[in-house]
Amino acid sequence: MSLSKRNAVVTGSTSGIGLACARALAKEGANVVINGFGAEAKIEKERAAIETEFGVTCLYDAADMTRPSEIGAMIANAETKLGSVDVLINNAGIQYVSPIEDFPVEKWDQIIGINLSSAFHAIRAATPGMKTRRWGRIINTASAHSIVASPFKAAYVAAKHGIAGLSKVVALELATHGVTSNCISPGYVWTPLVERQIPDTMKARNLTRDQVIHDVLLQAQPTKEFVTVEQVAALAVFLCSDAASQITGANISMDGGWTAG
Ligand code: NAD
Repeated sequence: MSLSKRNAVVTGSTSGIGLACARALAKEGANVVINGFGAEAKIEKERAAIETEFGVTCLYDAADMTRPSEIGAMIANAETKLGSVDVLINNAGIQYVSPIEDFPVEKWDQIIGINLSSAFHAIRAATPGMKTRRWGRIINTASAHSIVASPFKAAYVAAKHGIAGLSKVVALELATHGVTSNCISPGYVWTPLVERQIPDTMKARNLTRDQVIHDVLLQAQPTKEFVTVEQVAALAVFLCSDAASQITGANISMDGGWTAG
């Protein structure tokens, strides 16, 4: 197992891509801290399953990614309880779809907070330990929307372009410290986040559910297939390997060819 003795924090990992990343890291032997919202019993079931299936320690931290102090405490707690944070996956994210003139100000602030600023706070807190140990992997879940835009997603596209920039800055600052920083930029991945935006897109564009799936979501994706959460997680595991030690500052697309056009 390539990641035994490593400890990982994955934000937004009670669901979707984050949960798949946490499980994939644990499968490679890493202890993991999972984070995110959801029903207590469901989260506990996922946490316990990671421990029993993969024989690692799995902790749950309820830190709200809109609250810098909770993010700092999550990293500090992980360091205290597990001994280090070697892998940090900044993955928590939400979406909101609206024409710019109606875009609610509080939604803008929330998306910038969760999808962008939370990564800054977590990286800021985890970096000193990684530098001291001269090993670290910072992986940010960006998006095809870190490279191209779509209408009605002002805050999301701005946050994802922002996290791509942040990721590069961190790569340059930590390049000689054994720490890499990269983005994974998926196209559409079939997760609750995508399912939830279908009704809003139906409303914003006056379309049926099938039209949104085929003419809006998969329209952008030349393969006409959704990316799977397991595929994203496998790339994250690869970025944690020694083979990936010279990949830093990259924004790696996994989007069925979307941003090739
Ligand atoms: P998801 O809705 O399945 O999971 C989002 C996770 O973030 C959940 O665990 C949720 O509880 C958590 N979260 C939300 N608000 C939070 C907060 N304030 N504090 C802590 N946790 C919070 O979504 P997903 O599709 O798995 O998305 C994960 C990441 O992948 C996001 O950053 C998203 O932008 C990105 N992404 C998704 C897709 C896609 O098509 N699904 C494509 C590209 C990028």
